[in-house]
Amino acid sequence: MTTDAALHRYSPAQRAFDTTALLVFAGLLLAESTRLVLAAGPAAALGWGLLALPLAWGLADGASGLLHLALDTCGSVRTPVIGPAFIRPFREHHVDPQAMTRHGFVETNGASALACLPILGVAGLLSLHSAGLQALHAGLLALGLCAVLINECHRWAHAAPSATPAWARWAQRHRLILPPAHHQRHHTAPFDAHFCMANGWLNPVLNAVLLQRRSRRRGRA
Ligand SMILES: [Zn+2]
Ligand SMILES: [Zn+2]
Repeated sequence: MTTDAALHRYSPAQRAFDTTALLVFAGLLLAESTRLVLAAGPAAALGWGLLALPLAWGLADGASGLLHLALDTCGSVRTPVIGPAFIRPFREHHVDPQAMTRHGFVETNGASALACLPILGVAGLLSLHSAGLQALHAGLLALGLCAVLINECHRWAHAAPSATPAWARWAQRHRLILPPAHHQRHHTAPFDAHFCMANGWLNPVLNAVLLQRRSRRRGRA
């Protein structure tokens, strides 16, 4: 019979799976970036990339909030397929928010790489014969890259300053990535707000929607 301890243990098989997901993600991102540069030219590819990155970073923040809300409130670590890989880290995180700061790079980011592979897969299916398709391709690559960085930003929001790179602390201070004090509100009673984890830009919007939904429920009760 499977015990809770076994469900929460990061097994060698899971580590090998996560490492493979990260390597496949990095290889696909490199291959697709090269294909974009060859099709559009370096200057245009750089331009599309610079335009797409801030938009993708905002979109990734909103998506992280919705996914976090779902994984905090639906299913369990025993849910087939997504339980061990996706729900487990979120549930464990609320019991011991500092646990993720003791995880290595692979454990922190492997599931994100796996979840982002379909985004790069769609980019790989695109033909790049027009400027519009090249822009869409750059947007998908930027979205994949931004989405895969979310959990690392989340980990830095919990890590001690001495364990966070200086450039990341600078980015936290300038609200480019999730600031620790801002994210701490998610871990403060009543634990029902601030779900966005990339940079927190969209937390005011998601908080307002959730508040309105709770008010409507209370009104009906
Ligand atoms: Zn949470
Ligand atoms: Zn957290």
